[in-house]
Amino acid sequence: MRPTRAVIHLSAIEHNLALIRTMAPQSKIMAVVKADAYGHGIVKVAQCLEHADALAVACIEEAIELRNGGIDKPIILLEGIFEASELDLIEQLDLQMVIHNQQQVAMLLEHPPQKALDIWLKLDSKMNRLGFSAEQFRENFERLSSKPFIRHLRLMTHFACADDIHNPMTQEQLVEFKRLTESLSGEKTAANSAAVLAWPESHFDWVRPGLMLYGCSPLLDATGSDHQLRPAMTLESKVITIKPVKAGESVGYGANWRAEQDTQVAIIAIGYGDGYPRHAKNGTPVWLNGRIVPIAGRVSMDMIAVDIGSNNTDRVGDRVVLWGPELPVEQVATHADTIPYTLLCGVTSRVKFHWS
Ligand code: PLP
Repeated sequence: MRPTRAVIHLSAIEHNLALIRTMAPQSKIMAVVKADAYGHGIVKVAQCLEHADALAVACIEEAIELRNGGIDKPIILLEGIFEASELDLIEQLDLQMVIHNQQQVAMLLEHPPQKALDIWLKLDSKMNRLGFSAEQFRENFERLSSKPFIRHLRLMTHFACADDIHNPMTQEQLVEFKRLTESLSGEKTAANSAAVLAWPESHFDWVRPGLMLYGCSPLLDATGSDHQLRPAMTLESKVITIKPVKAGESVGYGANWRAEQDTQVAIIAIGYGDGYPRHAKNGTPVWLNGRIVPIAGRVSMDMIAVDIGSNNTDRVGDRVVLWGPELPVEQVATHADTIPYTLLCGVTSRVKFHWS
């Protein structure tokens, strides 16, 4: 059997959740488990998030998966609904939704739900993605707040740059959100992982961490362990061949890496067909037998090569960690010109998952 697997450490997720509780002690936690819990397995992760106050997903399909998996916690749909027919499902599955555009408001007013729902009204505090302008936000609050089909009308916004602690935009967004909501009743939420860590003023009634639950740092130039977070995913494989390479010879497609001296390369059973980033550059770190070795040559669909030097004790069959507690995924992301989110979400179905 192919040795390539992702091991998900549920105890790390529990630890990270408990840590978030200590960082935002006055706030409830809406644990973000969209995109298959950032690639960690949505139902398994939700089962271990017993102490979260609610779960947040992007869309109805993800909420259905959770309910079918026996999860009965409050679930928030971050994208809301797009067709009136979805309202029946929202009621049946007892979901909360984010309302962020005029079409959604019109739909709610034309097809008022039978059962009272919890609704989050989203302010666009100038990320210019989802949400109402300041004026629409106030108007819609007035229009919706007394409707019998709304149990709780709550207030939210989302930050564009919270991961960069020097960027003044977060403070500006925060001021705008406060200005528009201070006279309105209703619970508030703004903080993603970066804001949980770096912007305590933004914690309000609920925090909405995603990435940090999985043990990664959202802050630029930091890793999860800098904040005492524990990585929840180990992506691992094995050495399937070791070969000598003479000085001046190349390795892999495009021959874009050449040995500076006589060396050996270990070939490892993982590639972009498993979700390992195709753009990982020469020198990207890989963990092998207690040390870091650099990628040598282009990532292929099924394998990568690493330079293990000529004096090594490595053997075919040795375990290799691509990311995990031994090697932060943030570092791999930096070498691949990407972010840890895409690496975690991108592990493909060819990889065997184990939850421990
Ligand atoms: N809130 C919203 C609206 C989001 O879209 C996301 C993720 O993209 C989050 C919270 C969680 O963000 P993070 O994973 O950076 O904590």
